[in-house]
Amino acid sequence: MSTKAGKLINFKIHRGTKEIGGSCVEVWTENTRILLDFGMPLLEKNGNAFDFNKYKALNVDELVKQSILPDVLGLYNDTDKLIDGVIISHPHQDHYGLSNFINKNVKHFLGEATHIIIKLNNLFTSREINIENVTFFEKGKPFSIGDFLITPYWADHSAFDAYSFLVEAHGKSIFYSGDFRSHGRKAKAFEWFIKNAPLNVDYLLLEGTTIGRESKTFKTEAKIEDELTEVFKQPGKINLVFASGQNIDRIVSVYRACIRTNKVLVMDVYVATILKELSRFAKIPHPSQAFENVKVMFTYFTGKRLADHGNEKFLYQFKKYKITKDEIAKQADKIVMLIRPSMQKDLENIDGIDGGNLIYSMWEGYLSKPDTNKFIDYLTNRKFTIYKIHTSGHADTETLKKMVEAIKPKNIVPIHTFSGNEYKNIFSTPIIELNDGETMNMADRDTKL
Ligand SMILES: [Zn+2]
Ligand SMILES: [Zn+2]
Repeated sequence: MSTKAGKLINFKIHRGTKEIGGSCVEVWTENTRILLDFGMPLLEKNGNAFDFNKYKALNVDELVKQSILPDVLGLYNDTDKLIDGVIISHPHQDHYGLSNFINKNVKHFLGEATHIIIKLNNLFTSREINIENVTFFEKGKPFSIGDFLITPYWADHSAFDAYSFLVEAHGKSIFYSGDFRSHGRKAKAFEWFIKNAPLNVDYLLLEGTTIGRESKTFKTEAKIEDELTEVFKQPGKINLVFASGQNIDRIVSVYRACIRTNKVLVMDVYVATILKELSRFAKIPHPSQAFENVKVMFTYFTGKRLADHGNEKFLYQFKKYKITKDEIAKQADKIVMLIRPSMQKDLENIDGIDGGNLIYSMWEGYLSKPDTNKFIDYLTNRKFTIYKIHTSGHADTETLKKMVEAIKPKNIVPIHTFSGNEYKNIFSTPIIELNDGETMNMADRDTKL
């Protein structure tokens, strides 16, 4: 009996079987326990946007009781044996956003660029998430945590440093897709994956963000670049692009459209710093001698925040590439600027840009956020024409099918989806729909417990 007991492998999706956001998967043997992701939910149980401020006053026990924090043994301060490792797939809040609650002695495994992005968020935003005790993994290089061998696979996703994972122990295997797509600027990573995917895994935990939304093929980033180019070509107008400062694929598309239309790309210190730091990992445009048409506007709120915290050096590093508001106003028709709502105060101080183009380049769902709404109203009052140019960070149905065909899993478990019940209409592989917190036992004969 004892040898058999030693071969047990189990997994449990703490959150994510019936929602997008707050992903957290626990995998364990008799000896070793690991977590894949530790995300902040995006929605409350009633469907409203999740607001952690409502729960700020609660302690860990209360947060676990209310199912805000997953009930994981050895993760907080409650045990003499800590969990053996937490693996973070990519730097989106819905995959790491609750990490502050994890015992500081727990080991974290993540990409180095992911760690940099999380640290920069602490500098530039009001979020403060400290992930310490880190080990950096690299794509394609397997690493061990106790009984487990984990292989990270590089993923094409709207986050810069994203991975899927193969998790193996005792001859059993799980593949966790993380968030991915195949129509971004790292499409080659997906093509490579299709040719080199691990075969016949027992369980594929497959994200289905777009299942139940649309079944059509998504636009590529290259197509986004073309559409941006068409808008930038209009004469006599400033172009403001409302995109996430962390969506590097999109910023590259904007930059390339600028090159094609002979524009100057202006960004604030936050985006400039992210691009500069990440340029260590890939060829990314950033303010430097190599990218002459990239300029930095020193904005009010970012400047104040950095100064208040004694971090002025992050401003000064871009002094050489500074563009003033007057200079922008004087050559508005040459300018493409990356903007977000906190920059309204700065735009108020730039004359002569009325009647320009505003390109909204994020998920439409964010349009209902009050600060976004207010900001777009402000620009509408200044007679801006609004264009929506965007493509999803997630796989379309065709891409999901390609991943399944490449891996040929024995079972598929829906995760990161609101439509797990629709998987059976798309894939011929057996679908195992779990509930949050339900244990899947992968012993000799797999059983739901
Ligand atoms: Zn993501
Ligand atoms: Zn996600």
